[in-house]
Amino acid sequence: NREWHLLSRPVGWPKPEDFALVEAPVPTPDEGQVLVRNKYLSVDPYMRGRMSAAKSYVAPFELGKVMQGGAVGEVVESRAEGISAGDHVLHFSGWREYAAVDAKNAVKVDPEAAPLSTYLGVLGMTGLTAYAGLLRTASFKEGDTVFVSGAAGAVGSQVGQIAKLKGASRVIGSAGSDEKVKLLVDEYGFDAAFNYKNGPVAEQLRQAAPDGIDVYFDNVGGDHLEAAIGSLNQGGRIAVCGMISVYNNTEPAPGPKNLARLIQTRGRIEGFLVGDHYDLQPQFVQEVGPWVASGALKYRETVVEGIENNLEAFLGVLRGDNIGKMVVKL
Ligand code: NDP
Repeated sequence: NREWHLLSRPVGWPKPEDFALVEAPVPTPDEGQVLVRNKYLSVDPYMRGRMSAAKSYVAPFELGKVMQGGAVGEVVESRAEGISAGDHVLHFSGWREYAAVDAKNAVKVDPEAAPLSTYLGVLGMTGLTAYAGLLRTASFKEGDTVFVSGAAGAVGSQVGQIAKLKGASRVIGSAGSDEKVKLLVDEYGFDAAFNYKNGPVAEQLRQAAPDGIDVYFDNVGGDHLEAAIGSLNQGGRIAVCGMISVYNNTEPAPGPKNLARLIQTRGRIEGFLVGDHYDLQPQFVQEVGPWVASGALKYRETVVEGIENNLEAFLGVLRGDNIGKMVVKL
């Protein structure tokens, strides 16, 4: 059984020396627990926050201990009622091959209903983030023009497609490569997309959305947020989901200068955490599951093989190596 430990708190970009892949005994499940052999591990941008000591909505990872994260696996031994060996479960003890998990923290998932990895992505946490953030936080309504950054990633690709499926008049996405931009327009049905590395975001956004935007779903912060406020229409709404452009900064990033425009536009900016919206999960799967099954909502995953590549996969998410949800297959 191998597991990833955090050895020191990264300053700036995480370095391999900050981590170690450690041999540990396969844990023995206590009464009320199940032993799970993990099959897919999730790597997510928010994990960068947990590597720092700063107080946040989740406790920092502990130094010298195994890290955590979403995972799905097969139960190999059960000492809990309601879950049997052979069942598959979604749980939070990732970054390791084997985990002893309290049954109350494990959710059974059906590998026949959807591929196991999708419970980490398009039908899982990142999917619900897109759904709740767009429909609830950004109060999306039919006819809106929607701009989403990080648009080829797990959350962003789903925000744009759900907006289209629910009657957006125009959906614009930004991403960090020409290949990703092509995917957004050709496969995901975005009306326009641009590569933020090819020129100033504000200019490219104005060209893609000459009549302005009603909703901005922010995954990135920085220049993107600045540009979105500059293009916001009357009553526009901004859902602040993430700010990945600053996660590895060692100095505070310069703040947006466009904020006063929110007064003129009666615009609304609102941050949200997916954790507050799990009451939407059944409705989310009921509505989005059929779109995924029929192909009306498309998704990509970037699958990295082997627990030894768990860290590289995480760093790849911060660099933008992924298209769609990045998962590690064991
Ligand atoms: P993604 O699958 O979108 O992967 C992250 C992507 O961010 C990369 O692929 C990369 O794509 C892009 N990126 C990296 N650096 C920059 C940069 N400097 N500027 C612009 N883009 C950059 O991850 P997720 O879908 O899991 O997460 C997306 C965002 O949502 C993150 O900010 C995350 O923290 C946040 N989040 C928030 C939640 C909440 O509850 N509020 C829950 C889940 C996620 P590219 O090639 O385009 O640069």
